[in-house]
Amino acid sequence: MRAFVVKMPSGSRYWTVLDESMDAVPVADKFLRELRFGRDRAESTTKTYAGAVALYLRWCSRTDRDWTTAASDIGLFMTWLKYTPIHAGSSGVVPGPGAATVRGERRINRVLVAVRGFLSFAVATNEAPEWILGQLYELADTRDLPIEAQGEDARLSYRMRARHRLHEPDSPVDRASDEEIVTLFRECRSARDRLIVLLLARAGLRRGAVAGLRRSDVHLSVDNGLLGCLIEGPHVHVVRRENSNGAWAKSRHSYAVPVDFLLVQAYDRYVAERQECPAAASSDFLLVNLFRPPVGAPMTPDAIGELIERLAVRGGLRRRITPHMLRHGFGSTLADTGATLDEIQHLMGHKHHSSAQPYLHPDPARLRAAVSRVASPRLLAEDGAR
Ligand SMILES: [Zn+2]
Repeated sequence: MRAFVVKMPSGSRYWTVLDESMDAVPVADKFLRELRFGRDRAESTTKTYAGAVALYLRWCSRTDRDWTTAASDIGLFMTWLKYTPIHAGSSGVVPGPGAATVRGERRINRVLVAVRGFLSFAVATNEAPEWILGQLYELADTRDLPIEAQGEDARLSYRMRARHRLHEPDSPVDRASDEEIVTLFRECRSARDRLIVLLLARAGLRRGAVAGLRRSDVHLSVDNGLLGCLIEGPHVHVVRRENSNGAWAKSRHSYAVPVDFLLVQAYDRYVAERQECPAAASSDFLLVNLFRPPVGAPMTPDAIGELIERLAVRGGLRRRITPHMLRHGFGSTLADTGATLDEIQHLMGHKHHSSAQPYLHPDPARLRAAVSRVASPRLLAEDGAR
């Protein structure tokens, strides 16, 4: 069993699974074609999926299992994945404890995602019995969720949660240090660039969210009631929308981040700077090109990445700094200063993933307090010097 790329007459490609006699495995081939052309997934996705399905089918054939019903032993498949190299001999024997693992948790979870997709497809097309779904997924009724989590139109619907999933160790996030952030800030040559650094490092916005900000998303007065917004104190809204500059707020839901007076001051200075550029007057985007053509056009997410890189080089930093590292810096500092998990999730615009997590909305005052606990005397001193 192995993955194999197929080139269609049209020139588009997808990956399929070949058996020992080099024939495409029909149900796997149907699944992968459906993925590529029916669900419009990338060729690279079919490659990953074909590799995973080939592993599953190989395990079935080496351990003498029927692939349509082997889902009941998926735990054994996981162990096999952990220890069996891709070119191992024909035995399905699993080495004892202490043997080196050949696949990590992340990789195994990715294989399982593909295998579950494949088997669900097989059930949908009557190639495998329906009961195997119960082996793969836990079914639950959404009406069991707390009221807050049910949404406005609570009704009976089923949630499926994968039964088999390895816990992936959290890899340490690559954060920009306080010193690095201060260096970037110091190297800025315009109020606009200082505002960008602060939006990334002090509000934790993603690159795409920064580039996608509209002027109307920035609510910086103490009372925003006049703007039709009930959130108290200065804050910025991160709204998911399609933007002409390719900027895209990744978060599926919109959220608001409280901001501190450093950011408010930087904004005021930027507004003054922008007013001197008539070409920028009509743009609804907050951050526009002021210094290079096309002047007045919204900045792109790439331009924000390039700016941070340029500042790092100018400041003599030894490593490449990305906007995401500033966002991680914000998240880590929140954690360091005692913000709770729910505060961090809300401030970073993370979606709640696990139903085990409490569906609580932290109180806005607590969110603001979490931000103000993140004192940054050096940034304050730096700002005061301007
Ligand atoms: Zn608002």
